[in-house]
Amino acid sequence: MKKWFIKAGFYSGVFKILLRGRGSGAFHILMYHHVTERDEIFLPHVTARVFGEQMEYLKREYRVQGLDELVEMVGRGEEIPARSVAITFDDGYEDLYRNVFPVLKKYDLPATVFVSTGFIDSDRLPWTDELGFLFKETASTGLEIEIGGSRERFSFPDEAARLGVFREVKNRLKALYEPERVDLFERIKEQLAVPQSNPVRILAGSHIKEMAEAGISFGAHTVHHPILTRIPPGRAQEEIRGSKQTLEAIIGEEVKGFCYPNGGKDDFNDVIKSMVQHAGYQYSCTTMEGTNGPAADRYALKRTWTSEPSLPLFAARLLRMGSL
Ligand SMILES: [Zn+2]
Repeated sequence: MKKWFIKAGFYSGVFKILLRGRGSGAFHILMYHHVTERDEIFLPHVTARVFGEQMEYLKREYRVQGLDELVEMVGRGEEIPARSVAITFDDGYEDLYRNVFPVLKKYDLPATVFVSTGFIDSDRLPWTDELGFLFKETASTGLEIEIGGSRERFSFPDEAARLGVFREVKNRLKALYEPERVDLFERIKEQLAVPQSNPVRILAGSHIKEMAEAGISFGAHTVHHPILTRIPPGRAQEEIRGSKQTLEAIIGEEVKGFCYPNGGKDDFNDVIKSMVQHAGYQYSCTTMEGTNGPAADRYALKRTWTSEPSLPLFAARLLRMGSL
């Protein structure tokens, strides 16, 4: 669909009519990462302004429910009310405390934050965030690394090229098994030679406790954010169980939800799904795009990406997908 057509549809009220016509049965799970003060092209994000608009729109046009409750309804075979939506955040960045928590309180909206617990109260982050920071800040204009058995040179004379190389290198690293990935990351870090440290943090334990007490739900997202199919099964099990225990100790409540790091079709499998189930989780989220109906696999829930910069595009994305 053309952008002008979407905009016209949104502002003329056609979207409202389409929305009213949507039946019950399936729900969206919106997926956010960072919510930042300004555009941060090296991070998966929406800005606080865009996020505020989206929440106001959801409050007005949709029925926002807690993800735990929606999954329980599906489990009991209950009909999901029309226009049901759950809101989720991956990784649990500190910007949620500043830019999300007040907005959720303002509109009284439930949400679930999936935290990688090994980074709580530390200055460390998932490696993909660290890689983004290195590419954002580096003064280098090139990189030479050995990857997958061949020597490769990347050059990035300007920011646009740097962003492109960052994305390519990130995806190449994601495909590697852990020891090789860790080694290569260290070599890239040396070459990009960024002297300052990354100011971005994961939520502090005290923030998590405060948000949980105010009604925000928390789910686990492993301890160190590895892609679970790229590490040995024994370690995957520790990552799945350990994050649940740590989070439950902080919030003093049962943690029901899990979320697969990276969450694509190659990033979990039946063995991993059964580990999640046996660890005591009621459900798990992927990053695969789609809605969830009565027959949805509770351990492979689909989600809706939310990076749309304008409200009409966001509204169109919600309307186009599945049958709400
Ligand atoms: Zn993540």
